[in-house]
Amino acid sequence: MPFTERTRDPRAYRHWPGHVEADYLYTSGVAADHFFRELRDHGRLLGARCTKCGRQWVPPKLFCEECFVEVHDWVDLPREGRVAATCVVRVDPHGTPLGTPEVWGFIRFQGFEGGFVHRLLISPTRARAGLTVRAVLKPDGARSGAITDIEGFAPAGP
Ligand SMILES: [Zn+2]
Repeated sequence: MPFTERTRDPRAYRHWPGHVEADYLYTSGVAADHFFRELRDHGRLLGARCTKCGRQWVPPKLFCEECFVEVHDWVDLPREGRVAATCVVRVDPHGTPLGTPEVWGFIRFQGFEGGFVHRLLISPTRARAGLTVRAVLKPDGARSGAITDIEGFAPAGP
């Protein structure tokens, strides 16, 4: 279309159909590699602690964000965490309705920066911030060194 012509359809300039291939590989890095090996081999959930300022992170980090020093100390997470936020998921990543809604949450641990976004093993009606939860792991020998080795987080109390 020449510049002297006008269109009343702005999509003609801003949209076009097509597909872009975007394959990539994301490596876990040294700290996450150690985290996943301990999870797989020993069923441990680890964080990292800065020896200079004492801050602790989960997932573990290799460098302190505050001091910029290398972090060498691995520490076990408390057995129980607390749900900071929840979300009920009713469709899969492609928009297809799920047969059963899933509950996801952001789980934090006392004394640690960060946390996990993971499945909560509860019904949507029980989803709420402040819930105390515990990780439910796959059994020994069934873990592969992935975040899915944690089946989810279940309420810690009655
Ligand atoms: Zn520090």
